[in-house]
Formats: sequence, structure tokens, C-alpha cells
Amino acid sequence: AKESGRNTYQFYTEGMQDREVLRLELDKDLSKALADNEFVLHYQPQLDLARGRMESVEALIRWQHPQRGLLPPGEFIPLAEESGRIGEIGRWVVLAACRQLADWAGTPLGQLRVAVNLSGRELDDEHLVDHIQRALALSGVAPDRLEIELTEEIFIQNIERNLRQLSRLHQLGVHLSIDDFGVGYSSLAYLRDFPVDLLKIDRSFVRNMTERQDDAVITRAVISLAHSLGIRVVAEGVETEAQLALLRRQACDLIQGYLVSRPVPAGELPAVLARGFAL
Ligand code: C2E
Ligand code: CA
Ligand code: CA
Ligand code: CA
Repeated sequence: AKESGRNTYQFYTEGMQDREVLRLELDKDLSKALADNEFVLHYQPQLDLARGRMESVEALIRWQHPQRGLLPPGEFIPLAEESGRIGEIGRWVVLAACRQLADWAGTPLGQLRVAVNLSGRELDDEHLVDHIQRALALSGVAPDRLEIELTEEIFIQNIERNLRQLSRLHQLGVHLSIDDFGVGYSSLAYLRDFPVDLLKIDRSFVRNMTERQDDAVITRAVISLAHSLGIRVVAEGVETEAQLALLRRQACDLIQGYLVSRPVPAGELPAVLARGFAL
């Protein structure tokens, strides 16, 4: 028993070493990735149910790694958060989104709003708001074209500083959205105290809402609560017509998910828009 315990231990440390090597490699590559322009944003439509049209798109980062191919954010964002590189990445994302908005001006995509994801750690940067303001000004984009998605973690730590940063953004006219709503551990009081424009109901509630009464009860309650506070609601991860029908009955404002479109490169968005939405 002692010996097998030892083996298990060795196996575990070897696994850890492998992961550590991979982590170090990716981390080294990450610093080069920004310089070499290897990041790219894909865009996923958010559909306004009342108007039946695309109102906004969420920008989702990918890393075109020279050896490993197109990497999803789950494979490098947590690493970048650990190493502190997330700040630089976030600045790149904001600037790239603003440039994209500027590019779309005067085209059928010119009315879209772009939502970017920022992790709570990025609010540590006291210059973040200045950077966002500068990126908007440089690209000549109106602040209300930009939306920032943050998860509930911002309501748990450094609350006063986060409130200060987000209030400044809100004053600029940037929209604020709470991502993955309902899976965090935050208090609902913050919905009252923070300038929130949008709630995004987490995919885990939408996934089973047509089979599980309790999930449907939760989505209905969230929508009703949000509306009472003057906040609009996006349902994430909508994949089926049945989910859409139920969300529509619950007066959900917007849906996002594979039913409408997968995230696509900017070049494919005009075709997605032109295809229309027979919903
Ligand atoms: P998220 O913000 O919750 O983004 C939604 C994720 O769900 C995306 O995965 C999207 O591709 C996926 N998705 C959308 N519709 C459906 C659907 O109908 N079914 C299913 N099964 N999945 C759907 P993705 O692109 O891999 O992004 C994962 C996470 O990485 C994001 O979750 C977000 O937390 C983070 N992320 C993405 N881009 C950025 C970024 O620029 N900065 C930061 N800090 N985080 C980012
Ligand atoms: Ca998001
Ligand atoms: Ca989400
Ligand atoms: Ca998420």
C-alpha cells in the first residue's frame, strides 16, 4: 500500500511537471502573441426578440497559435489571468473591438453594439477607463456602441473600487452587462447599487429549461426581477426552437446561442446578417 501510494505520488508530480512545462511554454508564447498579432476576435450575434433583428454582437477572443492552431479562450485566458498578462490582452480586445466598429460604420453592420469580456482582474488597472475612453476617441466610435461584460466576481472583492470604475464607464455611455448571471455568489443588492444595463442568464439555466420546471422558474424570475429594475435580459446558449419559444413567452429581451449563429470571424458577419432570422 505504501509503495502504490508512492507511485501515485510520483505519477501526480510528473503530471504536474508536464502541465507546468506546457504552462510555461504557452506563457512564453503569450508574450510574443501580442507582438505578433496572433489574437483574433470572433463575433456572436445577440438577437432582439421584439424587433427580430441583430442588435449587438459579443466579441470572443481566439488565439491563432503558430503551432497549435486556433485556441479557444479557455486554454489561455486563465493562464493570462495568473501571469498578469490579461491586462495587455484586455487592452488589445477593447482596441480591436473599437477598430472593428469603426470599420463597420456606414455599412449594414454600423448599428451594432459590440460587447467585450473583461475579467475582474482587469478592473485592478486604474487606467482601464482612460484606455477605453482613448480607444473610443481614437476610432471615432460613440461610447454607447461598446458594452463591457463582467461576471459577478466584481461584486465580491474590491467593491468600492469596482463601483468607481464602472460608474465612470457608465457615465461615458458605455453599457455594462453582468455575464453568467446566477452562478456566482454575489448578493442581489449590487443590482441596485451598480449601473447595470443588461443581465446575461447563464447557459446552465437555459440548457434544461424546457425539460426542468425549476430551471424555467429561475429564468422567469430573473427576467421579471431584471425588468422590475429596468434591466434588459439576454439568454445565453440558446440552441433549440423550444428554448426560444419558452424564452419569448417569458418576455426575454435578447437571445444568443448556436440557434442564431456560432461565433464567426468579422468577415462572415455580413452573410449572417443577410441570411436573416426567421424566428
Ligand atoms: P462567455 O463570456 O460566457 O462566452 C460564451 C461562450 O459560450 C463562448 O465560448 C461561446 O462560443 C459559447 N457559446 C455561445 N453560444 C453557445 C451555445 O449555444 N451552446 C454552447 N454550448 N456554447 C455556446 P468561448 O468563445 O470558448 O469563450 C469562453 C469564455 O472565455 C467566455 O465565456 C469568456 O468568459 C472568456 N472569454 C472570451 N473572450 C474573452 C476576452 O476577450 N477576454 C476575457 N477576459 N475573457 C474572454
Ligand atoms: Ca461573455
Ligand atoms: Ca456568459
Ligand atoms: Ca462563461
